[in-house]
Amino acid sequence: MLARAEHLAVDDVTIARVEAIPLRIPLKLNFKIASGAARSFVEVLIVRLHTKSGITGIGETQAWRRQGSNETLAGLIEAINTHLAPHVVGASCFDNARIMRAFEEALWHSTYPQAAVADALLDLQGKLLGVPAFRLLGGKCRDAVPACSVLSMKPTIEETADHATAQFDTGFRTFAIKVGEDLTKDAALVGMLRKRLPAAKLRVDANAGMSFDDALVLLKRIEPYEVETAEQLIGLWDIEGMAELGRRSTIPMLADESVSDPHSLIALIRARAARAIQTKIAKNGGVWACKTLWTLAAAADVKLCPGNHPSTSIATSAAAHLATAWPGELLDGPFTVGINGVLAEDVVREPLTTGHSVTVSEAPGLGVELDDERIRHLRVS
Ligand SMILES: [Mg+2]
Repeated sequence: MLARAEHLAVDDVTIARVEAIPLRIPLKLNFKIASGAARSFVEVLIVRLHTKSGITGIGETQAWRRQGSNETLAGLIEAINTHLAPHVVGASCFDNARIMRAFEEALWHSTYPQAAVADALLDLQGKLLGVPAFRLLGGKCRDAVPACSVLSMKPTIEETADHATAQFDTGFRTFAIKVGEDLTKDAALVGMLRKRLPAAKLRVDANAGMSFDDALVLLKRIEPYEVETAEQLIGLWDIEGMAELGRRSTIPMLADESVSDPHSLIALIRARAARAIQTKIAKNGGVWACKTLWTLAAAADVKLCPGNHPSTSIATSAAAHLATAWPGELLDGPFTVGINGVLAEDVVREPLTTGHSVTVSEAPGLGVELDDERIRHLRVS
């Protein structure tokens, strides 16, 4: 690795151009959660950084437009081209700490656009050094990252339970159950799954879609079913409410939408509002920013769940590299909301395979290469 690094020329590490690639990727089936209408596609923005000698690095974010995101593809492109790119062009890709600081000063709290550029820098560093990203993040701590199955809302609870049973038979042992539209049906579904899959870990996730009162009723009804965590039942702004739910229930609270940056995480920790958090590459500003959140959370004895909005192999790999290099405990992450799960198409030559676990490639950087043919086909103007 050092021998290779010593041969790097200034032009190899100096960023010449920031390319933003907007894509619309269809979903295999309409993805339904408690917040907002079902979606039939996801809007993805890929950033490709080009060094002066023509080496490239890639990163991904999404214009998710819910769950703490108000981004649009046009807004992400404007943020990157106008406010972030000037701090990258002409800089060394190894100066990521200074670059990330400049991003925050140029466009406060811009985690979604920052994520794609930050992860493209990481990918580029790995490619230039000839090492996988997990080596730059601390080295390999696990060969495979365990993943949960995400149970999106279906017309009947029997259909959801049948889907879960089929997933269990393929090896999944943890299930994130989307709830929040009808608490009577939700409680019945949790009871049905507990009966059918006595060995499974069950988690409920309302994506911030419930009232406090309904959330409390749901918690009381599902307490007998050994539920691992209850994820973001109420509005992302209601930290006190989440803390109160945690005090009134034996089921640990997991915060997702409420966690954007270190300040929001510290507020949750101070209020003892959550026993676990979920991070996402786009929501939280890329791999390095997620690692800061993980370090803070772990120090406060708060558990970690790696994840993403529905994502291609690029952001999925980024989250999986961080998890691979994490020495502490991790909850089974919802990696299947992207590739092999919900997205109908991917954008890389050799998509990552996710089942009940994810193994990252030993190839340099994030270990995935853009497929230009697919990009042309999925690109929007
Ligand atoms: Mg969530």
